[in-house]
Amino acid sequence: MYNRVSEKIIDNFISIIGKENVILEEESLENYAHDETPLYYSKPEVVLKPVNKSEISEIMKVASAHCIPVTPRGGGTSLSAGAVPLYHGIVLSLERMNKIREVDEENLMAIVEPGIITGLLEKELAKYNLFFPPDPVSLDSCTLGGNIAECAGGPRAMKYGVTKNYITGLEVVLPDGTVIKLGGKLLKNVTGYDLIDLFVGSEGTLGIVTEATIKTLVRPEIIIDLYIQFKTVAEASRFSIEVLKQGLNPTAIELMDGDVVRMVEKYLQRRVPHSEVDGHIIVEVDGNDKEHLKKIWERIGDIALKSGALDVLVAESVHDRERLWEIRKKIGDSLKAQTRIIAREDLVVPKNRIPDLIHQLKEYVKNLNCALYAFGHLGDGNIHTDVGCTDENLLLQTDWISQMRKKMYEITIGLGGTITAEHGIGLSKTPYLSLALDKKTIELMMKIKKEFDPKNILNPGKILSDITAKPCNHSNRL
Ligand SMILES: Cc1cc2nc3c(=O)[nH]c(=O)nc-3n(C[C@H](O)[C@H](O)[C@H](O)COP(=O)(O)OP(=O)(O)OC[C@H]3O[C@@H](n4cnc5c(N)ncnc54)[C@H](O)[C@@H]3O)c2cc1C
Repeated sequence: MYNRVSEKIIDNFISIIGKENVILEEESLENYAHDETPLYYSKPEVVLKPVNKSEISEIMKVASAHCIPVTPRGGGTSLSAGAVPLYHGIVLSLERMNKIREVDEENLMAIVEPGIITGLLEKELAKYNLFFPPDPVSLDSCTLGGNIAECAGGPRAMKYGVTKNYITGLEVVLPDGTVIKLGGKLLKNVTGYDLIDLFVGSEGTLGIVTEATIKTLVRPEIIIDLYIQFKTVAEASRFSIEVLKQGLNPTAIELMDGDVVRMVEKYLQRRVPHSEVDGHIIVEVDGNDKEHLKKIWERIGDIALKSGALDVLVAESVHDRERLWEIRKKIGDSLKAQTRIIAREDLVVPKNRIPDLIHQLKEYVKNLNCALYAFGHLGDGNIHTDVGCTDENLLLQTDWISQMRKKMYEITIGLGGTITAEHGIGLSKTPYLSLALDKKTIELMMKIKKEFDPKNILNPGKILSDITAKPCNHSNRL
């Protein structure tokens, strides 16, 4: 299939990027063998850390000539094993390409390298009173390149949309080393097929993003958060639908079910109000007019109380807001510390089906002696459903985990949903793609992949499973 990275090829890479940026130590390679997806591991033969598009282009030419798989990597926070180098080979880390090249205050745009940490980008843009709305909860460790590759969302996606809504230009290195430039500081552009939108969300399988032109917005002056508790997820969901029906346009409506809140409460060792109930909601509103915003959150509070809320707490200061969001942001750490997480899902259904989805999944998983923890973006129908088990015997075999995930996806699709809203298919969902897409659609995707990457060297095994892979033929062997 693929060739190994020989010493001669390593020398080649050293001449392109310097010895210090060619990582071969076993211990360091371990760090690149996994991302944040449970149960996936595969070690690269080498990690390369280039610093510009020319170096990446040269690397890709060598990889292509010798038929070596290349896995691009940003912050390694993928939850679909997208950054795991399934066939070993090269991990191409973009971590050194982390600069903001330009902030254009007149056009409200910025030109940015892909390896910048999303949270740092946010901090830098704040100096210009600007912000980049996509806000994955992982923003302290994920990168813009990874966000583009996954078309990341986050709590604010409900009001502001996802990554693809903010990318107006891209520079991309193709698998054979060719560099292409698309778009620019343009808010409207229908010049030919929309390849920018094709690259955004392509999970590093079609090209390596080396620069992005991003649209930014002027920062809202005021942000207010509400913490609301309902007895049930169904009540919380009805509240959320009513808020949206009344056109109140909050920035975020986030849900945490009772099992999640109780885990976080234990982990943080701090009391969370009404942790005994099941429907916990954070609503965020933003804007510039304090009086207007006050009217909005008061109306949201009224709707909550009429929908059966036990309490509505308002967080206005930065300190109070951060303390509130800590509950939401520490979910991952809390679950990891108290149970063995075997699946981290990002299912999406029409908003009004969320209570059914959570109920059906919880019942199903309970029968497997595991627990399902539901939380996430209630306002746009995208709910994370992590599965945790404490019975180590169950974990000795993994076949049942595949069966469980298949069943979870079938339930989701049965409710009019699909299997991933923002984490991508990656490696972990490839076996289930055909549940969500028809044969012809998958064939079209395979043709697109083949056109961009005929040797199948760029992040192979991701999105489209290996049955479809057409790796290099024998004549390419060393
Ligand atoms: C605690 C936690 C919370 C999260 N919350 C959210 C959330 O709210 N919303 C959300 O959408 N996701 C969320 N995620 C998932 C993850 O953070 C996102 O998918 C993120 O966009 C990945 O970025 P990364 O830099 O870590 O990419 P990586 O994990 O390094 O890579 C992800 C994919 O991008 C590709 N890639 C990386 N850089 C490039 C590049 N320059 N060119 C081409 N391909 C590239 C990789 O090959 C891989 O396929 C969360 C993850 C964690 C662990």
